Amino acid sequence: MSFSDQVYQELAAVVGERYITRKDFILAGNRAKTPEMPVAHPSAECIVCPATTEEVAEIVSICLRHDLRYLACVTGCIPSAYASGPDTVFMHLKRMNHMEINVEDRYAIIEPGVRHVQLYPEVRKHGLSYAAAAVGPGGSPLVTYAVTGGDNHVQYGASRPCRYLLGVEMVTPEGEILRTGSLQTDSGWFCADSPGPSLRGLVRGYSGNNGKLGIITKCAIALDQCKGPAEIRREGISPHHKMFMDGDCSRVYVFNYENIQDVCDAMLALGEAEIAATVQKYFYLPLTLMMTDSANDFFKKWEYCKKTVPMPLVVHIATQSPEEREYEEKILFDIVHETKGTRIPRDLEMWWEEHMDYFMIVTRLQSVLRLGGSWFPCKASAESVQHMCDIGESISEFIYDFTDTGKIFDAPENYQIIPMEYSHFASSELLFMWDRFNPDGFKNMMEFMAASSATDAKYFYHGSTSSGYGPSAEKKGKLYSNAHIWMEQIQKAFDPRA
Ligand SMILES: Cc1cc2nc3c(=O)[nH]c(=O)nc-3n(C[C@H](O)[C@H](O)[C@H](O)COP(=O)(O)OP(=O)(O)OC[C@H]3O[C@@H](n4cnc5c(N)ncnc54)[C@H](O)[C@@H]3O)c2cc1C
Repeated sequence: MSFSDQVYQELAAVVGERYITRKDFILAGNRAKTPEMPVAHPSAECIVCPATTEEVAEIVSICLRHDLRYLACVTGCIPSAYASGPDTVFMHLKRMNHMEINVEDRYAIIEPGVRHVQLYPEVRKHGLSYAAAAVGPGGSPLVTYAVTGGDNHVQYGASRPCRYLLGVEMVTPEGEILRTGSLQTDSGWFCADSPGPSLRGLVRGYSGNNGKLGIITKCAIALDQCKGPAEIRREGISPHHKMFMDGDCSRVYVFNYENIQDVCDAMLALGEAEIAATVQKYFYLPLTLMMTDSANDFFKKWEYCKKTVPMPLVVHIATQSPEEREYEEKILFDIVHETKGTRIPRDLEMWWEEHMDYFMIVTRLQSVLRLGGSWFPCKASAESVQHMCDIGESISEFIYDFTDTGKIFDAPENYQIIPMEYSHFASSELLFMWDRFNPDGFKNMMEFMAASSATDAKYFYHGSTSSGYGPSAEKKGKLYSNAHIWMEQIQKAFDPRA
């Protein structure tokens, strides 16, 4: 069935006339494509802004009854947050923005419309913290924790969001309200599991399912004790601001390495010694962009950074006492010496000292989009630290065919590896950029992705996570114990229209 005036009236009766629209200029704002998309997103038929879980459930039921598509959105940062076909009802969840912090039991209950900028400073005031995705202050913590990927830059001394998800309230594709974990037995939000089968894996799994198994209307996330000073001092005004973590218990050091195996050895040794709060092999192209204020500035600095920090290992030490910091520093410098790392020049290292917000809630990463090219991530997955480093090494087998011919930006080492849980495993991401004004740009990007997948298939690498099902998911699914077959069965069990 298609969208009609009658459906519009039914939806308006749920949320009230004030919270539904089909004005074209508002629809246009919610279909504007991001630069990397070759074609425009289809327009949604209307936008509804529910305020409660019950309203979300009613909207889903109306869509089901009239056989309409629907989707949830908070920020619209990724393509799956846009309509994918005609007859789509777009649910903007910005009104659902309540949060509650339980300091004693260390968890926060959040609705989808709560943003990092709202939650993180409050949590930190209580000496607590959580791993915020690099998406920036406007992103939704609930989406990161319950819906999408979730890898983040502080997961070395912490972990991925899938480990921190507690009770969840969601609306299933059948329009039913489901409460998981300790909520099922009316015992509160504190636990992801309760008697009976655990649903945590189904709600988000490892890499998230982008809302395909239901709309999450509320969830609780576990909070960690905050590492480093609770106060972060700001100087200047955004975007030319600096952020400092003052005091004797926080230091950041950056080293450069000549080859990825040495980086791997350093990460494993640091994890074994259980020192440092954050460890990352960072990517140098976004780093240079974050360090500069314009495209011209970037091109002035790029050759220097490319030569000086092709493989930066960033280490943040955050301790409870100055003595503990000195102890960790001694071990760190021993490990770096043994693994042949060298400290980078002070002018570059100082950038980190002056931008310590990078370790919690990233206010600068969006500036990488400024250069004007199109970005795309590949090799976005997780496995052991050694596996991720092997994948990093294999990139040189195919990337030069693309960088040397100008098909993608010439930054062959532009991949990051971030260990998790003290290097028990790690995530990776190769971020590449191409010229979106080049008529062959999209084709080049697709060829590059295909070359990357071919290397994964050749070596049986877990170079990208498996998601979805059907013929396109089969190749990857086979590398993950036939995950695509399980995914199909789960989707069919949950979704009457699958
Ligand atoms: C510059 C940049 C950096 C990023 N860095 C990271 C990173 O470090 N780590 C990371 O994991 N991701 C990252 N992302 C990807 C992504 O934006 C994040 O996962 C983000 O947290 C998504 O939140 P959002 O509010 O933007 O959601 P949206 O973009 O609005 O939605 C994302 C997806 O979730 C679905 N969705 C939204 N709300 C709900 C809901 N309540 N229930 C079910 N489904 C829902 C949408 O339909 C869509 O499929 C980055 C993106 C950008 C642009």
